[in-house]
Amino acid sequence: MSQTAAAPMDSSAPRPGPPLWLLAEVTHRCPLHCVFCFNPVDYARHEDELTTDDWVRVLRQGRELGAVQLGLSGGEPLLRDDLEAIVAEAHRLGYYSNLLTSGVGLTAARAASLKAAGLDHVQLSFQDSTRELNDFLSHTKTFELKQRVAREIKAQGWPMVMNVVIHRLNIDHIDRIIGMAVELGAEYLELANTQYYSWAFLNRDQLLPTREQLVRAEAVTARWRDQLGDRMRLFFVAPDYHDGTVKRCANGWGSTMMVVAPDGTALPCHTARMLPGLAFPNVREAGVREIWFDSEGFNRYRGTAWMKEPCASCDQREKDLGGCRCQAYLIAHDAAVADPVCRKSPHHGEVVAAVERAEAGVREQPIQFRDRASSLRLSAGVVALSPSPNSITTG
Ligand code: SF4
Ligand code: SF4
Repeated sequence: MSQTAAAPMDSSAPRPGPPLWLLAEVTHRCPLHCVFCFNPVDYARHEDELTTDDWVRVLRQGRELGAVQLGLSGGEPLLRDDLEAIVAEAHRLGYYSNLLTSGVGLTAARAASLKAAGLDHVQLSFQDSTRELNDFLSHTKTFELKQRVAREIKAQGWPMVMNVVIHRLNIDHIDRIIGMAVELGAEYLELANTQYYSWAFLNRDQLLPTREQLVRAEAVTARWRDQLGDRMRLFFVAPDYHDGTVKRCANGWGSTMMVVAPDGTALPCHTARMLPGLAFPNVREAGVREIWFDSEGFNRYRGTAWMKEPCASCDQREKDLGGCRCQAYLIAHDAAVADPVCRKSPHHGEVVAAVERAEAGVREQPIQFRDRASSLRLSAGVVALSPSPNSITTG
């Protein structure tokens, strides 16, 4: 049965453009166990995966609607044996395709077959510049493997794009992390401050850096940026908890991106499934066009008509669209209020308190690694914890 019941749409709202970016989360399976993993905490409850034919159909429907960029994400997408078939179809359709990977499974043979299938771009994640912390944070021995994979990416002629999720435990290594990216010949390095959703929300006390750490890291990054000039592009994704300013979520709910989860659930961002009272359609039961334009899930928070005060009368509302609905729900338990990282939010005190705990070094819970057993245990009582769409990363 289709879940795409017509949604009450503001009749004055302009019709949205197409989903330019299709993010295919082809699996939640992953050999790593990152403490900041952006997959839903209850991912083990949704282990069903679309078939190759399902993905081909979604790619065709997305392209017909106007999608131009395809992200292949997970979990670890290389665990899918049919990744080459999916990439080949994306290439035939004219997508610009981007593989987001931990590197596990990207052997020389696999890299060559993906290149031959037409893969345009690979983003490789690292946890840290040291073996000890890289392997601790992912709970696997993957540091040397990632170095080998970085060289393989260069050998295939792909642009070398590295991503490192930054937090309290690795932020003081930022100088060495940038140095490592330079040594590996990266053209782009994204230093993405952790967004506190999903597993990172569970581990927030362990992962939130202090203000002093952030100031130091930004200064080091600026120094490298001056030194490197055009040799390497360096992105520092600012942490929203500390600066009190709000970012657009996924460039605006239902404005640019459609995420398709491994089981076919179509979402406006990775984490929206946790929001209560919203029905999200499945690509097995409805077409991409119908989902994008007509489903309740994609229409509920489009534009600004849904806003309450203080957003409703705020002069920033068109710019930030009230921030992230998942963060509002996680912190304020109401997805329709201002993102609590905003200074004007009545719930901003909870964000300030989290930062103050970080300053004081308060850690009430042991660090929690992402794994199936924990997911099943936690999802019995915690179903609302999921990731951030402001930056699309893998660990
Ligand atoms: S009140 Fe709402 S619209 Fe205004 S800055 Fe804060 S989150 Fe953005
Ligand atoms: S963040 Fe880590 S555990 Fe989660 S999908 Fe990425 S590599 Fe796997």
